[in-house]
Amino acid sequence: MHNQMHSKIVNISNRDSFPVHWLKYDPRGLVLIVILLLSISTNCRMTQKTETTAVADRKETSQTNDPLVIHRRAIAIDMHADTTQRLLDEQLDISRRLPDGHFDNVRARDGGLDAQFFSIWVEPELFGGGGAGAMKRADDQIAVVRALPARYPETWDLATTAADIRRIAAKGKLAALMGLEGGYAIDERLENVQRYYQMGVRYMSPAWSVSTSWAGSSNDEVGQTRGLNDFGKGVIREMNRLGMIVDVSHVSDKTFWDIISTSSKPIIATHSGCRAIANVPRNLDDEMIRTIAKGRGVVCILFYPAFLEPGWDDSKKKVDAEIASLVQKASEEESGSMAHKKIARDRVRMEEYAKRLPRASVSRLVDHIDHVVKLVGVDYVGVGSDFDGVQSTLSDLATVEDLPNLTRELLRRGYTEPEVEKILGGNVLRMMEEVQK
Ligand SMILES: [Zn+2]
Repeated sequence: MHNQMHSKIVNISNRDSFPVHWLKYDPRGLVLIVILLLSISTNCRMTQKTETTAVADRKETSQTNDPLVIHRRAIAIDMHADTTQRLLDEQLDISRRLPDGHFDNVRARDGGLDAQFFSIWVEPELFGGGGAGAMKRADDQIAVVRALPARYPETWDLATTAADIRRIAAKGKLAALMGLEGGYAIDERLENVQRYYQMGVRYMSPAWSVSTSWAGSSNDEVGQTRGLNDFGKGVIREMNRLGMIVDVSHVSDKTFWDIISTSSKPIIATHSGCRAIANVPRNLDDEMIRTIAKGRGVVCILFYPAFLEPGWDDSKKKVDAEIASLVQKASEEESGSMAHKKIARDRVRMEEYAKRLPRASVSRLVDHIDHVVKLVGVDYVGVGSDFDGVQSTLSDLATVEDLPNLTRELLRRGYTEPEVEKILGGNVLRMMEEVQK
């Protein structure tokens, strides 16, 4: 991988400068020169390796306990980030290290990320729960993701399959993929599922925090009793036919079980936690986790303290009530578009949460991973950060740059390198292959 090689080259130059002064005073320096030359030639040969040998090397590399080496050898896939809306609404240039937010090319590289599923999120309150507005909002976001390889050809390639991800990672580049968050953009028309599939979308959650007419959300009143109607079941079958993964993050319990009885393919939770640890409706109970695993799907744990840390979501609701007028004021003072007003509101939330709420750490995230592993084994768990979609992150996994801290904690708890590889991305790759079959 590009990152690994890059860090190796840096190491050579560091070692290079160290013995040079030292040699002048000590004949043992000759031995050092020979060692140094051998080391440089080995590293040079490594930089010349072809794509196929790079893939083979992943498997052949010798045993190590270094978390960073293990992290960079694995294919790391994040199933969910909302950087898409920043790209569109703030017209960000992500080639530079940004002073805010959770994601850019520099931090993604430093964090050893290999593939990012960008969320195509249509907020129904702002853009409609269907209709031309919702479709345009989705199409605009898809366009900014599809433009990434042209804007940053040295960093991004588009991917739609597991094979694409493996090939792009072997080249040392990042793979960009897409998932629709909430089925609003299909505008209650079955043919639009195929339309978005053809545009490159590879997963969809039927609802976000607002229920659709055909699927209930875990977040609203109507969702508590709403499952899938006949149209909704048709949507699931169409997704199965096309090879678009069904995402159960955000759906109501009734919708979850209707999806289970309808889908013939493995399903995914792209960014959720475990109710056994943090009991909120957005998370999955043990029976749901067992059922996803039985169907060979994957539970991807998110990095958001509200759904990881017990009690955090309740504390947040209290803070939300306290800061309501501050948030409202920021929104009124922002003269830009609806999307810009939302950015202004979120900025206040981010600042106030940091001041008023306790920080959770990556250790709590791994508690959720451990829980899934204890229930169903290590083959059905992954990660979905929700970066740039949340107003608080973990203290030691605050941005994509900190991703190696996840691997460090997994190793500390006794996970082996092959197990870490599965959790970081191997399980998702296996599942994508099965859904696309
Ligand atoms: Zn979400």
